[in-house]
Amino acid sequence: MEPATDGDGYQSKLAEGVLNLVARLVPELDAGGIAAMMRELYAIGETTLAAVARRAPPPQPLACAAGCSYCCHLYVQVTPVEALHLAASILRDRTPDEVDAVRRRVADLDATTRGMRAGPRATSRLACALLKDGKCTAYADRPFSCRGANSFDAEDCRQMLDGNRKLTTYPHQRDIWFTIGRSLTAGIEDAGRPESQLELTAALALALAHDDPVAAWHSGALDFAPARCIEARPPAPASAPANRP
Ligand code: SF4
Repeated sequence: MEPATDGDGYQSKLAEGVLNLVARLVPELDAGGIAAMMRELYAIGETTLAAVARRAPPPQPLACAAGCSYCCHLYVQVTPVEALHLAASILRDRTPDEVDAVRRRVADLDATTRGMRAGPRATSRLACALLKDGKCTAYADRPFSCRGANSFDAEDCRQMLDGNRKLTTYPHQRDIWFTIGRSLTAGIEDAGRPESQLELTAALALALAHDDPVAAWHSGALDFAPARCIEARPPAPASAPANRP
């Protein structure tokens, strides 16, 4: 996501609020602490979006509705904390059989999509491993990128899977969740934990390989480096093949 507009300057206040929240909660970043922080961030985002939409409403209704899932076939970026929260909630809230099924679906998709860039990922038409019957099975814990995705025209979204890039969106929805994600990353980095944007499927596959992904992350047993967004990775060494990051 790229930031687009700042309306009446709410983004700087939003960023400051998120940074303060993260600074307060960073000492308690176990699974429960992360879940509490994410719940607060979701609430902050929803409240901000509602307030901004009252002052600067979308010029027309959004096309987004339950069952419409074109955007669930795209390259999704997440922060490490989001990936940890999503994995922890899957492990906590689902039966062992359901967890096994999610692990398999995520691993199978990751085997195909690892290293794909955004364009090929969209035209691959491969759905997110958490999508079932056109609906997100992790809706309450979905990433900020998913929360920010929106469109005025579902046909544009359908064509996006053919490579169309001309999507008309309500920018504030996108920007609010972008700002929250960026500020969360900055807050975690301020606490001395270097962060990188990750690709959702790869990050989930790595996290779900552990029964307690948050503890594994703290101990260093879970390393998200292989899931880093290609654009966020350091330049390739001269000896690496040209098509590898
Ligand atoms: S996490 Fe949910 S909302 Fe996001 S891409 Fe996957 S299925 Fe769609």
